[in-house]
Amino acid sequence: AKYVYDFTEGNKDLKDLLGGKGANLAEMTNLGLPVPPGFTITSEACRHYLAEGAVPDGLEREVSEHLGAMEKRMGKALGQADDPLLVSVRSGAKFSMPGMMETVLNIGLNDESVHGLAKQAGGNDRFAWDSYRRLIQMFGKTVLGIDGELFEHALESLKGDRQDTDLDAGELQGLVETFKGIVREQTGKDFPADPREQMRLAVMAVFDSWNAPRAILYRRQERIPADLGTAVNIVAMVFGNVGNDSGTGVAFTRDPGSGQQGIYGDYLQNAQGEDVVAGIRNTIPLQELERLDKSSYDELLRIMETLENHYRDLCDIEFTIERGKLWMLQTRVGKRTAAAAFCIATQLVDQGLITLDEAVTRVTGDQLVQLMFPRFDSGTEKKKIAKGMNASPGAAVGKVVFSSARAVELADQGEDVILVRRETNPDDLSGMIAARGILTSRGGKTSHAAVVARGMGKTCVCGAEELEVSIAERRFTAPGDVVVNEGDVISIDGTTGEVFLGEVPVVDSAVVEYFEGREPDDDLVRAVDRIMRRADEVRRLGVRANADTAADAARARRFGGEGIGLCRTEHMFLGERRQLVEDLVLASGDEERQAALDALEPLQKADFVEIFRAMDGQPVTVRLIDPPLHEFLPDIVDLSVKAATGETSDKQRDLLAAVKRLHEENPMLGLRGVRLGLVIPGLFAMQVRAIAQAAKDVPGAKPEIMIPLVAAVQELEAVREEAAGILADLGVDALVGTMIETPRAALTAGQVAEAAQFFSFGTNDLTQMTWGFSRDDVEAAFFSRYLELGIFGVSPFETLDRDGVGRLVRIAVEEGRKARPDLKLGICGEHGGDPDSVHFCHEAGLDYVSCSPFRIPVARLEAGRAAM
Ligand code: ADP
Ligand code: MG
Ligand code: MG
Repeated sequence: AKYVYDFTEGNKDLKDLLGGKGANLAEMTNLGLPVPPGFTITSEACRHYLAEGAVPDGLEREVSEHLGAMEKRMGKALGQADDPLLVSVRSGAKFSMPGMMETVLNIGLNDESVHGLAKQAGGNDRFAWDSYRRLIQMFGKTVLGIDGELFEHALESLKGDRQDTDLDAGELQGLVETFKGIVREQTGKDFPADPREQMRLAVMAVFDSWNAPRAILYRRQERIPADLGTAVNIVAMVFGNVGNDSGTGVAFTRDPGSGQQGIYGDYLQNAQGEDVVAGIRNTIPLQELERLDKSSYDELLRIMETLENHYRDLCDIEFTIERGKLWMLQTRVGKRTAAAAFCIATQLVDQGLITLDEAVTRVTGDQLVQLMFPRFDSGTEKKKIAKGMNASPGAAVGKVVFSSARAVELADQGEDVILVRRETNPDDLSGMIAARGILTSRGGKTSHAAVVARGMGKTCVCGAEELEVSIAERRFTAPGDVVVNEGDVISIDGTTGEVFLGEVPVVDSAVVEYFEGREPDDDLVRAVDRIMRRADEVRRLGVRANADTAADAARARRFGGEGIGLCRTEHMFLGERRQLVEDLVLASGDEERQAALDALEPLQKADFVEIFRAMDGQPVTVRLIDPPLHEFLPDIVDLSVKAATGETSDKQRDLLAAVKRLHEENPMLGLRGVRLGLVIPGLFAMQVRAIAQAAKDVPGAKPEIMIPLVAAVQELEAVREEAAGILADLGVDALVGTMIETPRAALTAGQVAEAAQFFSFGTNDLTQMTWGFSRDDVEAAFFSRYLELGIFGVSPFETLDRDGVGRLVRIAVEEGRKARPDLKLGICGEHGGDPDSVHFCHEAGLDYVSCSPFRIPVARLEAGRAAM
């Protein structure tokens, strides 16, 4: 294998092999931009090293060849005493992991070559010693594993109140001696003087940094695969620390916050590498570079334009100016906020750089979701007291509480509360449900708080480490002597991770108002509008809503839904209708049972009429009753207590007996779904009649009747025949189909399809039954641990598990269609609104996805992207 690529050999599409940094350095080199010479050691070499504990055969030789060519071209050798070539050794993985891995600058310096470097710079000793001390500091920390504080401390005490640029050559030379002493003391060895040895050790340190704990953690949070490894770039040094005619900077080709075109960047004179972002001195806005060095400034603007036109996207860059000469050290397509993503995509269309189709692929459903949450009013003054991780988006305001019990208590009194904990555990669940938002001082995006909050769609900021939380004293403190006691009001922003003192006003999302029907009236909404329209034109998947009420149905239509994919009927048995359910369960004979059903029927019919009207001719898939009947009956404990104290009527005693009879150890696997229809005569027939009667009353209504929890075609046959009979009697046209939510139904889909006109994948139950996970229990109980262990990267209830559940879906699609070519296929689990799952549904060949009304825009957008 070839393990080393010169910058002239690579290009931007080789990120797998060369990492993002290396691939883009090569791309810039080939564009003719001023990039220092260099080469890249592939991530394949890193993977080999990590697996075998040694670099692959031939790597040393290839590195020597490339280094030799570079030395020849530069006319000087690595670390050559009188005229040294210096290099940086830089990590760079396929996905950017900012600040996670290591880079060492000024490799090649030692006690001799430091003088050669000074001579190169016209006798600039100060610069040479500054570079040398930086080498020992960076090398000591990242390659030799010495605590960086030791170097920092020595530097700080030498500087006193002065800035690093105020240190003179003599002082820096002294600092080099101090640093060498630290190395000797900490490692028992001298700082390695041999330039090739320095380089070799630095390369291995970069390889090793792939598995540093913080890198592992970061990958897990960002869902970056653990086995990619990193490439290593060896780049000839250019120096921003030679004097005031030199410097280093970072810039964006446009504003990553809004997408506005303009000059966005920071510059620092007489500085090297990370100084700009490390905040050691105040940077100046990039605009001011024009005054300092107009020709470099103009060249930089030209290069930024070249990069934007070439990458056809926002880029960020790192550059250095060495005595009036500009050098490009890095570029990549830059990260941006959700709002900027939409604006930039459409701006690029207007500039003629990309097509509208490409614009659709440049934004994501997750970004759209972020734009749909209510947010804090940007116009008001806020007092920010901390920043944690943006674990679950939204804007929440409330009184601080430190325990679940208190959260529940105050919420019951109608108060908005924010639950603040060091970290949460399963015991906090009731408090998390009661709270408007959750704030923790520990834990990352896979912590218990984060996972559970996301699952509940609740605003959460986690890992706000600046906060000292004292549960016992019921208070927390923040930097700047801020003390927040129980009952004080705070505001947390789950989209940015910010925590504010006091109440910050919340405003509705303009994007939601647009989906509700308001005309686009700002740039962002206009951008969303254009992209959504295009997504709708190209998508193949239909998008329906899970909606049980006329209000939800109406919202679903406004949001662009094309029908209801799941109308649950269980809420039609609640409220005052519980009495009728009790009568049904307690009925002592056919007559009493029929009387209860007859009383329920007109009520159900009225509900359906409302929904059919709201949907105005769009299809409505009605699922017949699914949950176990005892869910509609009074609580067994309450009844037992009353019975024990003798305060019960005969009827209540009967009820208790019935509840006991219906009690199940494992209700989710018990008497529910189609099983109810088979065991309680007349129940499903009543529902089908109510649907058919309603359809007759609403011209154009398109009901589809869906039988839940079928595992065998025989179950379906039995209820389907009865339903078909009722429909025929009443002269109503309706499809009769089934949910596919047991593994057996999926595996026998060919048989099931004989009796079903459509399938709708109920992926909540299907996931539950495929994994054997109780959805109501496992997320809080152990999913955070599973995520930590990497058993899955994301909860299978959130994103459809392609390997397991997805395989069952594919089998059912294939065998179902084989048995019945015009079989209609949809999905109605929570997954219908999840971006990755929508792509799966497109690939698997479903006809539509169905999701909660609020998720419809996400599903439309992702269905459009999937079709690209
Ligand atoms: P990161 O991935 O953390 O950005 P980099 O590898 O880009 O790390 O390097 C850290 C800093 O050092 C950057 O500011 C970069 O521009 C600078 N740097 C890297 N290589 C060189 C070089 N050959 N000459 C001058 N500066 C360099
Ligand atoms: Mg960089
Ligand atoms: Mg189900």
